[in-house]
Amino acid sequence: MAKKEFQAESKKLMDMMINSIYTNKEIFLRELISNASDAIDKLYYKSLTDPSVGMNKGDFRILLTRDKDSRTLTISDNGIGMTKEELEQNLGTIAHSGSLDFKKDNKDENIDIIGQFGVGFYSAFMVADKVEIFTKSYKKEAKTVHWSCTGTPEFEMEETDAEHDRGTTIVLHLSEDSLEYAESSKVEELLRKYCRFLPVPIAF
Ligand code: ADP
Repeated sequence: MAKKEFQAESKKLMDMMINSIYTNKEIFLRELISNASDAIDKLYYKSLTDPSVGMNKGDFRILLTRDKDSRTLTISDNGIGMTKEELEQNLGTIAHSGSLDFKKDNKDENIDIIGQFGVGFYSAFMVADKVEIFTKSYKKEAKTVHWSCTGTPEFEMEETDAEHDRGTTIVLHLSEDSLEYAESSKVEELLRKYCRFLPVPIAF
């Protein structure tokens, strides 16, 4: 796969996530599910003006699966998906570097700044030592894109012929100290805590 370097700000932020300076690392699930829900909202709004999207409100869902043997937790949505260019733009760079300054200025570790500055996705690295993304945009002729990253400074990305429905699948390869997130009781607890009022059904 082609290797690409993260932008400097992304590197700093990811290093912070990997070193888990945030005390509340379980919020990764809220962040990834809210991204999935946003992706579904976006496709829903497209579907209102573009009949070729061919989705009804009832078709949308977020699917969570876990596999204790492979130590993975997977979050899958059938939302808008991303092209290769969008994926590189959205997750290889950080639009709002304000989060880093904010963290520097505010030494309080309990301040929850993740998710407020367009950095939510990176919280995945608080619990995973490898993150993979499979995504397919709703756009016609879009190909599946596979993104993979085991930490800074690089990520890998390629278009593949692998079958994938429209939408995005995030595979978290859980790190040794985060294996509890492959336990169904833990996942259910977090879903109750953070995701009770989502507009989209979540299947687990
Ligand atoms: P934020 O969600 O606050 O913008 P993130 O770092 O979590 O910041 O995500 C950056 C961008 O990546 C999002 O704005 C969105 O465009 C894209 N993205 C993330 N997750 C998904 C997803 N599941 N489906 C489609 N696009 C996504």
